[in-house]
Order: sequence, then structure tokens, then C-alpha cells
Amino acid sequence: METHQLFELADAALADCVSFGQALVRIPSPSGHEGAVAELVRNRMQALGYDRVWTDEVGNVIGVIRGNRPGKAVLFNCHLDQVDPGDPGGWPYPPHEGVVRDGYLWGRGASDCKGALAAQILSAGLLKRVGRDFAGEIYVAAVVLEEVGGLGTRCLVKEVHPDFVIIGEATDNQIARGHRGRMEWLVTVKGRSVHASVPDRGANPHYVLARFIQALNGVPMAQDAFLGPATVAPTLYCTDQSSANVIPGRCWLHLDWRNVPGQDETSIQMRLQALLDGSLIPGCQASVALHELELVSYTGYRERSPFLHPPFVLEASHPLITESQKALQGALGHTVKVDKWRFATDGGHTAAAGIPTIGFSPGEETFVHTNQDRISIAKMREALVGNMALALRLGAL
Ligand SMILES: [Zn+2]
Repeated sequence: METHQLFELADAALADCVSFGQALVRIPSPSGHEGAVAELVRNRMQALGYDRVWTDEVGNVIGVIRGNRPGKAVLFNCHLDQVDPGDPGGWPYPPHEGVVRDGYLWGRGASDCKGALAAQILSAGLLKRVGRDFAGEIYVAAVVLEEVGGLGTRCLVKEVHPDFVIIGEATDNQIARGHRGRMEWLVTVKGRSVHASVPDRGANPHYVLARFIQALNGVPMAQDAFLGPATVAPTLYCTDQSSANVIPGRCWLHLDWRNVPGQDETSIQMRLQALLDGSLIPGCQASVALHELELVSYTGYRERSPFLHPPFVLEASHPLITESQKALQGALGHTVKVDKWRFATDGGHTAAAGIPTIGFSPGEETFVHTNQDRISIAKMREALVGNMALALRLGAL
């Protein structure tokens, strides 16, 4: 298909794409409560004539459109869940109103990833409407529970095995080919709780964590040539006490560790445990473990698992990257860069399942998880064209 035809299709569908994005933003969908937005997605895929639409055990909605000749299976992936909007008073427009103004669709989840999801779903629908003149199959997966570790996509890749994955996490219509991983560690110190007026009788766990945090600050971190340095940051700090005149019996600290390829859980845990052992005081014991969460999806699927997004890097010379760059540059008529995400995505799970993965999305990283959350309508138009160009080129590889 010619470039101008792709733009004609996108222009004819853009108003519909924006209003579908609006409808998605208007339904709040915190992690574990994606049922209503999933239904909207399922209905839209059915209305667009997807060949098959189904909801899996964990609640992911998956739709497929088949081309008129054999080829590769390309899976577009976005998540249905959104992070909390926080104080609505801090927003320029109410976070779930889906206001369209100044060339943007505003609201929580617009850039992460509801705007991208609307474009993915409609792009595949357009290729079907004009006669399925492409090779292979296009899957669109709207997944659950991404913001809490990616259980949705971990379940998805057990059932669906595409040749390529395109993740709709913010890339500003450029290509991303990897990111650092995210691990959440829980450092727990047990002491001896006593009345705060007689500290000598107890063992105060705060002193252990104070020494540990100091030591952590100077710890050398691994470097990756493409992804940059691994980082670690203490985030939440909790105690088992709510009274200010009692020495707590237990304190725990959450660490956000952004790992690079080659750093596995065991090696990081050993380093943390050594730091912790060196921070102990008499009467205290300490341990470090991955933070585990019991997740329940809106369908009732339940799993206890560690909070872990694996890192990944797809080599720059991989055909998924070189061909995607050619397809996008050809269709969009400008340079498309290949870079990385700063944050972790479900791409870590698809890459870990052995599926070559990239990112392409109209979302912009600066708006993600902020009260300025919004998606550019001009970029949604480009994304409609870009998604179609990717599906056409990659299906024929
Ligand atoms: Zn996201």
C-alpha cells in the first residue's frame, strides 16, 4: 500500500480514534479493576470485525485479524490499567473527563497507554476494512496488571506466540529497543520493642537501617553500554509501630532497583545481604527478599509473585529494528530514531519469552504518570499510519 493511502485511511479514522481514546480514558481502570474498560475494548474489536476476539483467564483481551496470505504474526500490546490520578485538584482538566483541547486528549492513562491502544486497535481494523491485503496475522492484546509487575503479559505469552511484539509504551513515535529491569526489594530488620524511655533495654532496628542506607549510597553499580548504569533508590520506609513513644520491633524498607542485563536476582540479593550484615547491631536480625505481591485480576485469577520486570535489549542489527525503522521512515516521511525507554515495560516479559520486541507509541514519556497526562492527536494520526506500516512490513518478513 502506498504511503498516501495509509494517510488517507488514518485521516478518515482519526476522529473515531480520538473518541475511542476518550471513552477509554473516561473509564477508570486501576490495576485489578480493568473489567469495564476490557469490555469496551472487546466490543470495539468485535464491531471492527476482528476474526477472533477473546478474553483469557487473567482478563487480557486479545483480538486477531488475519491477512489474505501466510506470513508472520505481529502482536501489538498495550495495558488497560492506569496509575492513580492522585489529587484531581492538581490537574488542568478532570483526570477522567477525556477533555480534547489544544490538539491533545487529556486525562489519566492518555499517554500510558490508552491513546496508543486506541490507535493499535483501529489500525488493525483499517487493514481489514480495506481487504486484508497483507501477509500474516495481526494480534492486538490489551493486557491487565502491567503497573504492578506485568502478570497480564506473563500470562499472555504462555498462550500466544507471535513472531514479533510491538509495545505501545511512550516512545514519541520513535522506536525503543530495550530498557533496564525493575526489582522491588524488601529489607526487613527485627529488633526488640521496648518503652522509648528506656532504649537500653531494647534493640532499635532504625539504627541498622540508618547504617544500611548510608552504605547503600556508595555501592558501585553495574553499567550497560546501551542502557547506562543500574540504579538503586530507597523508597518506602515503614515500622510496625504507630505510637511515637515505643521503639518499634520491626522496620522495613522498600528498594527500587533498576537492573541491567547480566545482574540476576541472586547476585543482587547477596550484595544487599552482605551490606545488611555489615550494618547490624547487637539484638537485631535482618533479611532481604524480593517484595512479593498477591495479585487478583478482575476475573478472579490469583497469583502471588515477586515484583519483577526483567531488563531487555534487542540488538540494533535485528531485522525487527532495521525493517521497522525503514517501514516507519518510509511511511511517516521523517527520521525515526532507535533508542531506549527510561522506565520498565511489559516488553521485558515478551523478550524473556524469546519474542523479539520493540516499542512504538504516540505517547510521550514526559506526560506519563503525571497530572499533565495527555496524548497528541497529531501523533495519534502518525501512530495509525505507523502501526499499519509496521504490520504490513513485518508480516511479510
Ligand atoms: Zn504503561
